[in-house]
Amino acid sequence: MVKQQYPRLEVNLKALKENVESMVNLCKTQGVEIAGVTKGTTGLARCAKMFELGGCKMIASSRLEQIEEARDYGIELPYMLLRVPMISEIPEVIRLTDISLNSELSVLQALNEEAGLQSKTHEVILMADLGDLREGFWDKEEMLEVALEVENNMENLILSGVGTNLGCYGSVLATEEKLAELVVIAERIEKATGHELKYISGGATSSLMRVLDGDLPKRVNLLRCGEGILLARDLDIFYGYDMSFMRQDVYNLKAEIIEVKDKPTHPVGELAVDAFGKRPEYLDRGIRKRALIGIGKVDYGSMEEIFPKTCGVNIIGASSDHTILDIEDCCEDLKPGDILEFAVNYASLVYLTNCKNVQIEYIED
Ligand SMILES: *Cc1c(COP(=O)(O)O)cnc(C)c1O
Repeated sequence: MVKQQYPRLEVNLKALKENVESMVNLCKTQGVEIAGVTKGTTGLARCAKMFELGGCKMIASSRLEQIEEARDYGIELPYMLLRVPMISEIPEVIRLTDISLNSELSVLQALNEEAGLQSKTHEVILMADLGDLREGFWDKEEMLEVALEVENNMENLILSGVGTNLGCYGSVLATEEKLAELVVIAERIEKATGHELKYISGGATSSLMRVLDGDLPKRVNLLRCGEGILLARDLDIFYGYDMSFMRQDVYNLKAEIIEVKDKPTHPVGELAVDAFGKRPEYLDRGIRKRALIGIGKVDYGSMEEIFPKTCGVNIIGASSDHTILDIEDCCEDLKPGDILEFAVNYASLVYLTNCKNVQIEYIED
């Protein structure tokens, strides 16, 4: 089998663990525990291990194969399935996870039945849709009825809490008011069942803003956090939070230069569509020095999601397997065989870690 050295993504495990610890400790001061969400690095087990070592309460992912990978690696925390289960995966949900997020009565019935077959009890968190319009009960009367159904008639399930997700589809902010709505729902359910819920799970990284501002409603005690630990970039870039207490140097993407030439900046000939059927605009800046590197959209998704670390290097285009860089103003004299480094964000991190052409190199000091 060919063994390629580049493209390569370096992952600094020590930096990642420090990030987990910083966020776990910050949340702890406000009575909040963290489910460490591993899907941002496609569930890489060695990254998941840092969530364990850094003090997360559980390991969470949207995908069962990532949970299985972490289990096989020997991580002994409870496992949470983030995506509402597919009916077709119920046996594996019961086999591999301890707790799942849910919004459908028929799925809960199937979980209950399967848990019985496997002689297990499975915990469930019922999701409330508070306006972001992805998963969760919109009708809160229905949610209450289903909660009571689980409580009273599903002997293999434990109703362990309520949760919500904000921001991912509808871009809705996790404000104090929104999360207070979740607490109201939780307390209605508690009143109806006569006992306290173990978890009120107030969202993902976007809810960390409430922790940073110190105005998270008191009863919210679990956040499911991925980006805010893996990269700690979004709260800074989109919302202006000072995230300098987190390490932003966990990842380093390396790609190799395969061509360096002076070429026109505007294509020459009759223009139609590019490799992906699009009609990009090309800015004519005359003849400029450019480099081609051996990495493309198949590896990282979209060229807007990787960020050159070398001064004067700008990405001007990409196709499946190539990325074109303007290096006219580069501070270094680049040539084929040279390696360029890039920072990543959540979108490119997901693609890069999921791409079998990209080598992952772990750094442990
Ligand atoms: C992905 C996901 C999360 C984690 O999101 P981050 O923004 O990476 O913290 C939390 N909850 C659910 C339901 C998710 O699907």
